[in-house]
Parts: sequence; structure tokens; C-alpha cells
Amino acid sequence: MEGFRQGMQRLILHGGAGSIPSSRAPEVERGLRAALESGWSRMDHATDAVEAAIQSMEGSGIFDAGLGSVLNLKGRVEMDAALMTHELEVGAVAGLTRTAHPIAVARQVMEKTPHVLLAGPGADRFARALGFPPVRIRPPRRVAVYQDLRRRLEASVASRGKANDRDPMDPARPDWWPRLQSLVSEHPELLHGTVGAVALDAQGRLTAGTSTGGITLKMEGRVSDSCLPGCGTYADRTVGVSCTGTGEVIIRHTLARSVAETLRTSGLTLDQAVRRALRPLPRGTAGLIALDRKGHFGWGRNTENLAFAFRSDRSSSPVFRMA
Ligand code: ASP
Repeated sequence: MEGFRQGMQRLILHGGAGSIPSSRAPEVERGLRAALESGWSRMDHATDAVEAAIQSMEGSGIFDAGLGSVLNLKGRVEMDAALMTHELEVGAVAGLTRTAHPIAVARQVMEKTPHVLLAGPGADRFARALGFPPVRIRPPRRVAVYQDLRRRLEASVASRGKANDRDPMDPARPDWWPRLQSLVSEHPELLHGTVGAVALDAQGRLTAGTSTGGITLKMEGRVSDSCLPGCGTYADRTVGVSCTGTGEVIIRHTLARSVAETLRTSGLTLDQAVRRALRPLPRGTAGLIALDRKGHFGWGRNTENLAFAFRSDRSSSPVFRMA
């Protein structure tokens, strides 16, 4: 790849954008630190490094991914993940319900099937067929938040309804989604915890990956940006990108690909390209990490915080930021 220096190694990862209460910062940093270590120990291959880093965060229970996933409107988890390499190989899963490491299943989709994205019961069955053990995921902290929010949403929707109105939690009600959105905007800390990573290995391979439990109280069957190539996850010969934030906004703007296009066509630096790609998005909706083939790290956000960490072969000490 042009601009690539043989032997260079880089790894960057994020633990979500949104609003991170200061009381949670130490555990987020602990989770990022462990993930950076796991990923860095697998830097002989960029895809191994990304998968290891994301698996570490999925398994920690700290983030909104894998064992720490948030609950949907029905009180169940539905997890999405994707991996993409600079050769445009992609594997993705949507709506997995019983697997601790969706990113590992996404990799199997990439390596073992002719498809890009498996969703719903078929994705769950694929995971079982490959031997991923079924796991019941119901993190107590997420259950408490779910119950509290559901109660508030019910109260806020019901107070506007008529006596004989249908179920206040019916997503077909015209006021359901606006009420949920305003509830989430009153509690920005809910929009946080998706995980992602991008690695560049010594052979110039570039891989990006993202894994999420999605957004609390999402409708059953709702699919995030995280598992959609070009939206929440993207890699090509120029750059790898992993996004986090409100999926519906990121998808409409195909945010990850927009960073790559801007970088390729504008002559801007990676940081400038990230800022330009984020510019049209409404405030408080997204953050992202990026890594280009020249080894430059990039990140940006229009949310209050973005938790990320990176490491380079040029420096022995990793960097952590709660920007
Ligand atoms: N992008 C994820 C989704 O929309 C959530 C997040 O990144 O916090 O499901």
C-alpha cells in the first residue's frame, strides 16, 4: 500500500461516545487498558488484534457489547457486530441473542460463508453450528436501567393517551419514538458503551471492527450502524474506521465511508477528514476512531465524551483518553 512503512504497527480502540459519568470513568479506562493489551499481544495480524481487543471488551461486562449489552423494548439483548479488512472482506451479524462474542461470529461469517451479514435466528443458529456456546445475557445493571426507563416511558406515553388507548408501549403509536428519544436525550449517559477497534499490522493489513448491544429500549429487530459496512464500520486501502453513537443518524450519513471518501478525495489530514465527515451530523449523535495506512490515528465526536485508547510501535506506553 502506498504510504505504508513496512514494520509499522498501530492499534486504536474506543469504548463508546455519549456522556460518561465521572464515576464510571475508572472502569471504562480499566476495560480499555485490558483490551489494548489483549489486542497488542495479537498484532502479528490486524484482524486478530481487532478481534482480541473487541472480545476483551465484550467479555468485560463494562461496555454495551457482548456480556454487558443493553436490553431492548422486550427486555432482551440483540447484539450486532462487524469486521472489515482493507481488502474489502466483511463479516457481520445482527440481532444475536445468546453469544458472548458477536465479533468472533462476525469473523466466521467473513471467513466461512459467501455472505456479508447474517441476522436474527439464522445468525444465532450459525453461531451454535460453529460451536459458540449459548449464553444467557441479562446484566443486572442493564436490567435495572431498563426497568426504570420503561416505567418512565410508560408513564410519559400513558399521560398523553386516552383511557381506551392501545398499549402505551406499542412502538406503532405515533408518539412512542419521539418520547423514547426525548427520554434518551434527558439521559445521555444511556447512549454509551459500544466498542470498536482498528489495527494496522507490520505487513500493512488494516482491519476495523465494531460490536454493540445497541440502544436501550430499541424496538425488537432494530439493526444498528455498527454491523453495517460503510456506516458504523469500514476499511479500505486508505483507512479503517469504527463509529459509535445514534445508529439511525450514522446510517443516514454512512459516516465511516464518508471519512474514507473525504480522506481520499480532499487532500485533508485524517483529523481534518474526520471533522469534516462529522460536521453535517446533529450535535450529540456520534463519535469515531480512525487509522490510516500511513499510521496516523484520528478521532472525533460531537457528543460530550468519547472514550478511546491507542498504541503505536513507536512508543512503549499506550495512551488513554476520555475526550
Ligand atoms: N451505534 C450504536 C447503535 O446505534 C450505539 C452506540 O454506539 O452507542 O446501536
